[in-house]
Amino acid sequence: MSIRLLSPEVASQIAAGEVVERPASVVKELVENALDAGAKSISVSIDAAGRGLIEVADDGSGIPAGELALAVARHATSKLASAKELFSISTLGFRGEALASIGSVSRMTITSRAVDDAIGARLRVEAGQAGAVQQVGVPFGTVVRVENLFYNVPARLKFLKSDATERRAIDTFIARYALAYPHVRFKLAEGKKVTLQTSGDGDRRAILAMLYGVDTARQMLEVLAEEDALKLTGFISPTSVTRSNRREMTFFINGRWVQDIPLNAALTRAYHTLLMVGRYPLATLFLEIEPEAVDVNVHPAKAEVRFREQDKVFSFVQRAVRRALLAYAPVPSLPPATLWGSSPAWRESPAWREHQPSASGQTGLDWSMAEDAKQAETMDAVPSPGSEAGQSVFANMPLLRLIGQIGATYLVAEGPDGLYLVDQHAAHERVLFEKLMIQHDKRNIPSQSLLEPVSVTLPPAQAALLEGQLELLKDFGFQVEPFGPNTFQVRAMPALFSGSDASSALRALVDDFEEDETPLQAELEARLAARVCKRMAVKAGKALSGDEQRALLTDLENCDSPRTCPHGRPTMIHLSVGMLERQFGRKGPR
Ligand code: ADP
Ligand code: MG
Repeated sequence: MSIRLLSPEVASQIAAGEVVERPASVVKELVENALDAGAKSISVSIDAAGRGLIEVADDGSGIPAGELALAVARHATSKLASAKELFSISTLGFRGEALASIGSVSRMTITSRAVDDAIGARLRVEAGQAGAVQQVGVPFGTVVRVENLFYNVPARLKFLKSDATERRAIDTFIARYALAYPHVRFKLAEGKKVTLQTSGDGDRRAILAMLYGVDTARQMLEVLAEEDALKLTGFISPTSVTRSNRREMTFFINGRWVQDIPLNAALTRAYHTLLMVGRYPLATLFLEIEPEAVDVNVHPAKAEVRFREQDKVFSFVQRAVRRALLAYAPVPSLPPATLWGSSPAWRESPAWREHQPSASGQTGLDWSMAEDAKQAETMDAVPSPGSEAGQSVFANMPLLRLIGQIGATYLVAEGPDGLYLVDQHAAHERVLFEKLMIQHDKRNIPSQSLLEPVSVTLPPAQAALLEGQLELLKDFGFQVEPFGPNTFQVRAMPALFSGSDASSALRALVDDFEEDETPLQAELEARLAARVCKRMAVKAGKALSGDEQRALLTDLENCDSPRTCPHGRPTMIHLSVGMLERQFGRKGPR
């Protein structure tokens, strides 16, 4: 085949592919345009998860009728005049590609009235072909309507994910921008159903509450740090609130959402040793930096950026986050080895105090468990034999004689070879998990109706997700029904959890759900079960009666894998007779 120039249609479709990948990218470009136009109110409507319709209406500065045709041309922008300005960009857009790209892969209608115009104008573009500009009487602002996205590029359509996933991407995007621009009123609706709405009153915590639930929002720690020309603000989760993936780690740089890996690393580094392996914080952080110090023109959708002084930004972010964390939750500075090492004052060590229920709950606990795992040598933590079938109960766990409870958190017991400390929460988690899975495998989870159904409102993305899982929940003994926008009613729950908080159980179920996952059903079920059992298990800091303590030990002995909780943390630590003898100087070098 000889070399020839591509037709303009083909060339523009190729270019569009870089900018417009899925419905959420259209939403992103249109919302960014509205923000650049100074909108105070942005309303997004979609149909069929954005495949049918995406409409973004704003009350911004509008496009003058005379410029409307130019707005949809490629490389036409009002935001950049010279190449020099590329290095000091303060708007979200500047490439002048979005409207042209969207117009080339859909049926797009732009209706706009600029602040100085007496009347508005409308322009229709179909698969890249622009019609004539018409005069229309409309209020100030701009409405961009995108219908039948990718109707002329069937190959693209095939790459779209399920409606639920595409919808979730849009929800997530709007939620993030609502947080970043709390003074702008955002509204997102699918058909008649409003899935997200903010007031525009500037209250970020209220928006957090909508996204993560009131409880989590209340716990989020505020970050505020300034150094030279760098400023970091926003929210991070305390160490007790974590996720199993990095998806809730969000960075905005000069008002633009970027998926920058180095900054994510700075954030996780700040939590170093404070979180269990494989757990990640929630964070929404806003970095302000001189426009000249950051290059935003390295990715077609501007999802990545490059810093002039990467190391400086990295360490600033890490320090700022760490400081915020420490300010709220002092971290023990002694390694746990000291706890059992030579120091006679071990009881005074912060590590010990962290174990006490009066300390700030989970914070110290997560830490100590993470460290415990590493310090297996010193602490002689009971090695986990895994959950191989066929192992006898005795091989998994020795019979223990209960001595009592300490710190309302651990059970102390004697075994054939020394002392055992059992973490009551982790142990109970394991017990509930195995009971629930056995009932589930028999397809018989006794369910108990609640005296009064409990209604639970979830963030839109989670609500959408839960809707698809109601059948699965039924298999688990939860009877949950939709009950208004983003709201569900729990009517029954597994008898195993009777007396526990139904709303908390439901939230646990939808908490960590992974986007786009198509796990084996069995794996998904085990994960759901583990999640809800964690939430329902007895907490550290709860005094248990002697009978309750004994019952817990017996139940644990009956488990297939008694030595770890369903999330892999140890349920018990073993102090062998040999080790005690060494520590007391009865044996070994004196
Ligand atoms: P860019 O945002 O990179 O400039 P776009 O293709 O997204 O490129 O938009 C082209 C131009 O159309 C913008 O520069 C702006 O002048 C105008 N425009 C687009 N959307 C709006 C809007 N919602 N309100 C006002 N002007 C807009
Ligand atoms: Mg734009």
